[in-house]
Amino acid sequence: MKKIYGLKGCIQHYAWGGQKYIPELLGIEPDQKPYAEYWLGAHINAPALVENEGGYLPLDAFLETNLHAFLGEQTFKAFGRLPFLFKVLDVHDMLSIQVHPSKKEAEKGFRLENKQGIPLTAANRNYKDDNHKPEIMLALGDFWLLHGFLPKAELIERLNNKETFRQLLPIFKKGGYKALYQHVMELPVEESNSILKPIIDRIMPLYQKGKIDKSNPDYWAAKAILLNPDKDNYDKGIYSIYFFNIVNVKKGQAVFQDAGVPHSYLEGQNIELMANSDNVLRGGLTPKYVDVPELLKHVLFEETKPEILTGELQADGIERKYVSPAPDFELSGVNIGNEDSYSCKTMSVEIYILMEGKAEVTEKNTSLTLKKGESFLALSGAEFQISTSSKAFLYKATTP
Ligand SMILES: [Zn+2]
Repeated sequence: MKKIYGLKGCIQHYAWGGQKYIPELLGIEPDQKPYAEYWLGAHINAPALVENEGGYLPLDAFLETNLHAFLGEQTFKAFGRLPFLFKVLDVHDMLSIQVHPSKKEAEKGFRLENKQGIPLTAANRNYKDDNHKPEIMLALGDFWLLHGFLPKAELIERLNNKETFRQLLPIFKKGGYKALYQHVMELPVEESNSILKPIIDRIMPLYQKGKIDKSNPDYWAAKAILLNPDKDNYDKGIYSIYFFNIVNVKKGQAVFQDAGVPHSYLEGQNIELMANSDNVLRGGLTPKYVDVPELLKHVLFEETKPEILTGELQADGIERKYVSPAPDFELSGVNIGNEDSYSCKTMSVEIYILMEGKAEVTEKNTSLTLKKGESFLALSGAEFQISTSSKAFLYKATTP
């Protein structure tokens, strides 16, 4: 039976997306819409399409036809479904501040909201499923994100740097991260505005003159205000910009984000691999629903020292694995030169996307030709080779 298939992903036109990167990658003619994400997964909202016998089948339905064999013994037993969602993101405007629940908390929250009768599609629904959502992101170019609370000394320096932030110092020194964050998130609007307004008034002209560097939180605070210039109600996500680490990830580097670590993508393109879930609790920089008490339950209130992963080159000299603690997924880069080929024998399901070059994938009597932006699916038990007449660079998603 055939074990490799061409795969077509699903484009998501969220408002924060860029207009060029994804159409260029996929070789399609862009229209005026933003192209935010390209999904290669079996998520019920936007499954990828499997190319089979001249037609297309949604990946979730395709896997269901022989789940056990297609996923492989271990993945089937551990998850009973495709455990990961593989994406390409083009972040033009910053995303909301967010945190993802742990598996246990997601199960509890999902059950509770079901019991309360809150529809799955309701704007005030926090838990869309019962799964956790650890994620690993790999930069496709210069990428900027917010990731976890600053170490204590740096946070004190940030608060000291702004006159209206200084009133927050005793709260932080006495009650730590939670007391500080809870205080600002629960502040009445007028009081919050009186803290933020002097800062915003000072940084906007500097930002507009291009005088602020991207490593400075003022840059992102000004950008956030331009995106949402509501003077009567400044977005409280601004506080997070000043309280969190601003991380610059270079092309080919990765960052892992586990449950509880608050984060936000600010700018750039990345590959994202995550557990198959849509559970997001938001803390600002968004017009979407913000449930402060629920958010506070899940945020890890401790300092984070951002860890940049560079991956481990495997013995074949071709595959670079980005190992993370998540049991749901594993991300690799596969870099094949002219004289080389990459051989693989799968124990689980795998999804590949070709980012650069051209590739030929051969499995017994089946072969696929891939050009830039094209993807394929390999089922458990597949034995195949990827070769190229020039060069080929792919990303691969599978389970560890
Ligand atoms: Zn996230």
